[in-house]
Amino acid sequence: MKNPVEGKNIVIIGSGVGGLSAGIILSLLQFNVTIVEKNPVPGGLMRSYRRSGIECPVGVHYVGALGEDEPLGKMFRFLGIGVADLFERMGQDGVIDRYIFDKFTFDFPVSIDAYENNLRSMFPQDAAAIDVIMKDLREISGRMQETSFLLNQADPFQSIEYFNPMGEYLQKLNASIGLQDVLAMPSQLIGVPMTECPVIFHNMILAGYLFSCWRLKENGSKMAEVFAGRFKNLGGKLILNNGADKILLKEKKVIGVRLESGADLSADAVVATIHPKALLALLEPQSLRSSFRERILNLTETDGVIVVQISVDALAHQELTHNIYRLHTDENGFITEGIFYQVRRGNVNGANLLSIITKSLYSEWSQWELTKTGKRGQEYENKKMAIANALLKKAGGVFGGLKNARIVDVFTPLTLRDYVNCPEGSCYGVLRSAGQLLKIASLNNIPLSGLCLAGQNALSPGVLGTILGSFNAARQIVGAERLAQELKKAT
Ligand SMILES: Cc1cc2nc3c(=O)[nH]c(=O)nc-3n(C[C@H](O)[C@H](O)[C@H](O)COP(=O)(O)OP(=O)(O)OC[C@H]3O[C@@H](n4cnc5c(N)ncnc54)[C@H](O)[C@@H]3O)c2cc1C
Repeated sequence: MKNPVEGKNIVIIGSGVGGLSAGIILSLLQFNVTIVEKNPVPGGLMRSYRRSGIECPVGVHYVGALGEDEPLGKMFRFLGIGVADLFERMGQDGVIDRYIFDKFTFDFPVSIDAYENNLRSMFPQDAAAIDVIMKDLREISGRMQETSFLLNQADPFQSIEYFNPMGEYLQKLNASIGLQDVLAMPSQLIGVPMTECPVIFHNMILAGYLFSCWRLKENGSKMAEVFAGRFKNLGGKLILNNGADKILLKEKKVIGVRLESGADLSADAVVATIHPKALLALLEPQSLRSSFRERILNLTETDGVIVVQISVDALAHQELTHNIYRLHTDENGFITEGIFYQVRRGNVNGANLLSIITKSLYSEWSQWELTKTGKRGQEYENKKMAIANALLKKAGGVFGGLKNARIVDVFTPLTLRDYVNCPEGSCYGVLRSAGQLLKIASLNNIPLSGLCLAGQNALSPGVLGTILGSFNAARQIVGAERLAQELKKAT
């Protein structure tokens, strides 16, 4: 991308947390911004949905680092969005996540010091490895608090060791299988197995959650509306139910976007907050070198998930201030099955909501690949319900039985694929594995003037990683110097 962009008109494709946060940042930087969204409502994965009157989450269960001087908290301050209006702290009982393994239980606590204590008391034989792990974690955590982190500038993480897979790193440290089991979890939160996850991503995710953990006071739809409202109040234009059909180019430079309706929007720059493979579909094949296209088309995706939303008796199953992970590992410490449980207060009298998430490969659903949501037929519904019922039964084991349990919804990788246009229903977009790092790096340097990628595929997934990607896009558009000045004023 030519840096900085000449002209004031920006079109953003997609209104997830990536598109809306990029829209807010660029509006604050005095651009005329239009966001185009294919769905009838804004928010993408951040938005919740209703079934039988019950509000069900999709892609925001908990987020880290929203405290005032923490990375995401600073980003919210810049966006002008009040954290306390949307989020509440987790871990009132001192626990954020309870990892239940077959042989032991580990409590992921509320701070970096408490985490170190828990590791040391649980794995005394790993003292030397824990020394190294904690030193790295504290260093990265410190760097994440610097303003340069928001600028993604002067890469603060230059140690080559940080780009090796976490699994390899732990083996070099002679970490015990138990310690490896516990440390396998953070990378799972961005869908990357520890054996493939670069140390840097692992540590950033872990540090992010150790700053502080938060979840929504109400629901994802409110979060989506607050983001959309802030964008519109700043003069931004949101076009719904009318997705981008084509990116218009003139001599390798972006000049606008053609919408599904056939209307053209002119633009000096386009920020695509969609999956890179979906972005390719909007470009004429000859506009990019075939090697670049191939590189994107061959990217491996993170796995899909199946999500089961269950209404349970509110008195018998009160809201838990922590999440539960039930984990099974093999003799080498690899996680073979992981199930996430979250119990939240319900919005319907007498009922709370238990959300269950576990891996579900796209290939398991390939039989219905050519069908659309709501029209997949009885066999698909039967398969979905059989898996959901099996998960409900397992949940009974974790919660000691479930009173008045009723499945209110189930969604699969195909549902996500159709909802937000992510190939293979990938939960966190492209796999940020050590093996794909170079290919992924090229996503931030699309060789077309005026076009850049943001959203969860640009830098890192999750709310924190995605909003960081929006700052990265703004840096490409206004230049690092201007963004640094604006950040200094605001943070
Ligand atoms: C089940 C699940 C649980 C998760 N839990 C958490 C969590 O607890 N904490 C956390 O931090 N993260 C979580 N995540 C990840 C987080 O939700 C995502 O990283 C983040 O929401 C991605 O935002 P985005 O804007 O990049 O993408 P999306 O939200 O996918 O937004 C992209 C938007 O682009 C639109 N679009 C696509 N194609 C077009 C087109 N051609 N024209 C116009 N619009 C288009 C889509 O409709 C969509 O609205 C979870 C994700 C999933 C799937």
